[in-house]
Amino acid sequence: MLAVRCTFKSEFFTRWLSVGGAAVTSYHSRMNDSIDHLCPQCGLCCDSTLFADVELRAGDDPKRLKKLGLTILKKTPAKLAFNQSCACFDGKLCGIYADRPKRCRLFECGLLKKVEAGELTASAALRKISAAKQQADKVRTLLRSLGQADERMALTHRYTAVMNEPLDFSDEDGGEQRGELMLAVNDLMTRLQRDFLR
Ligand code: SF4
Ligand code: SF4
Repeated sequence: MLAVRCTFKSEFFTRWLSVGGAAVTSYHSRMNDSIDHLCPQCGLCCDSTLFADVELRAGDDPKRLKKLGLTILKKTPAKLAFNQSCACFDGKLCGIYADRPKRCRLFECGLLKKVEAGELTASAALRKISAAKQQADKVRTLLRSLGQADERMALTHRYTAVMNEPLDFSDEDGGEQRGELMLAVNDLMTRLQRDFLR
């Protein structure tokens, strides 16, 4: 949910800061710096690598968000969400920054939090982003080779679709590629859990 988020968040925090005290200002200035520095290089929370969908919250206007281009779906009878990859993400920036849903305004991944807490340097965070993106690219390449080329579909759903296909035992390459895909997804999940989700 972020990528341009960087910009998003910067503006969000700037507004928030206008009512905050000096210590709060200092904390959020640091947060802004991290967002501005890291998020444009990342986008994993908008491109379906981290999330398959994002739930709407109280105060979000589903009709307006739909008009703005988000694909709204009923996740449960009581919950609305929008699909990832986000239709408003251009690969680097959010196209509906001023009107983005609440969850997008508030989300901070574990990596940002660690940088803010001084547990990780910005350059170490950039290396982790780069490694996770390379691994996600590897997964996408394998999915395409295995016939799953729908780039708008969430990564996890693409993976499930491929793995649910019956295995053709006469196709050695296909079987080998499935094995590679499983390993690549496992590696990606480990990185996401460790570096971005806690
Ligand atoms: S609306 Fe889409 S592109 Fe914008 S911050 Fe949310 S998930 Fe990312
Ligand atoms: S996953 Fe974290 S670093 Fe990456 S764009 Fe989202 S908030 Fe920024």
